[in-house]
Amino acid sequence: MLTFDEYQQRVIAAVRPLPPRSVAATDATGLLGLVTAEPLRSRVPLPGFTNSAMDGYAVLAADIRGAAADSPVSLPVTGDIPAGDTRSLRLEPGTCWRIMTGAPLPDGADAVVQVELTDGGTDTVAIREAVDAGCAIRHRGEDLEPGDEVLPAGTLLLPRHVPALLSAGVQEISVIPRPRVAIVSTGDELVEPGQQPGHGQVVDSNGPMLAALATECGFEVVAVRRVGDTGDEVREVLTELAAAADVIVTSGGVSAGAFEPLKLAFEGSGSFDFVKVAMQPGKPQGFGNLDGTAVFALPGNPVSSLVSFLVFVAPATRVLAGRDPQLATVGARVAEHWVSPPGRQQFARVIFDENGSVVRPIGGQGSHVLGGLAGSQALAIVPADTTEVAVGEALQVIPLEGLA
Ligand code: AMP
Ligand code: MG
Repeated sequence: MLTFDEYQQRVIAAVRPLPPRSVAATDATGLLGLVTAEPLRSRVPLPGFTNSAMDGYAVLAADIRGAAADSPVSLPVTGDIPAGDTRSLRLEPGTCWRIMTGAPLPDGADAVVQVELTDGGTDTVAIREAVDAGCAIRHRGEDLEPGDEVLPAGTLLLPRHVPALLSAGVQEISVIPRPRVAIVSTGDELVEPGQQPGHGQVVDSNGPMLAALATECGFEVVAVRRVGDTGDEVREVLTELAAAADVIVTSGGVSAGAFEPLKLAFEGSGSFDFVKVAMQPGKPQGFGNLDGTAVFALPGNPVSSLVSFLVFVAPATRVLAGRDPQLATVGARVAEHWVSPPGRQQFARVIFDENGSVVRPIGGQGSHVLGGLAGSQALAIVPADTTEVAVGEALQVIPLEGLA
């Protein structure tokens, strides 16, 4: 039997980031969740032109040096400069332009007086306060100069990066592509979701659940299939999928029964390992390499499948995506006692108490209990040597929301 850490390290060490690909930088939403493979440098200065930071009046600061509430300075207003004005304009000393936020500053002006410090006039304006040269001006290139690094290599692209990405003047960006994941459910007992299961049959819920997990983790699901319990069928379908996927995730068919199709297909093939891991749930695990595609053979009980996906498939596939392997964990205290099997690291389904820092167990911890799974909010990680999880104990938990 392997410890949990030994097996997790083994699957993480078996994979490498996918080769980078150049994609259109303008597809900002399509890039979200991808990791940059090279630094992004601005091609242009930002701002691209010197402009006003306020709605107000572009002036020469020297012209309004003496302005005060009891002795305002009046200036003739040459005209309006709205945002988007593409004219090249000049300010003559002793005059001003009414100017809007983001509009280009006329040549010769060195300050903007915000409208609140004036009477808002359109022919002439009375200015009630002096400002310093440079006031309310955003200078060309003050944010970024051409060649400045906007995003380092290895950046996970998030909504906050979109403005810099779209404004940097680059057409293409090199990113690690989204790992392509194929899902295969095994079991002669499975019927398609939506069909009425007969006696002895169950709905294939793992396939859609694993597809949903992969999607939530930011991977691309390229196939969701169902196969029966023969080694030949499993080998045939997996070989076909290996050509189109970076990762294949199967569920079922890896434990100790008489008809375990993953084992029938690949045990002893040299490129697959079927092991027992000291964890609960999820003890039987298989991992292999099929024509360069990583294959995770997860146990079939839905809870075991979900836990195995989160602690093995997600970390390894995040490595393919150029990311840190581990999903986020948070610390929490135990509010209600539960038991954990000796010698096995437990992933217990728990819910948070109101303040989010305290957890209690939910439902039975049997790996077939779907009601408890649906109600759970996190997996509490109980070390292998703990058998009684005591009230007040501090644990790490993996929240089940927001896996991206
Ligand atoms: P196995 O790992 O194939 O021995 O399956 C263990 C348990 O999980 C059995 O009760 C199966 O019926 C159930 N199971 C396996 N695959 C699925 C699936 N895709 N959806 C729902 N239950 C499944
Ligand atoms: Mg089975």
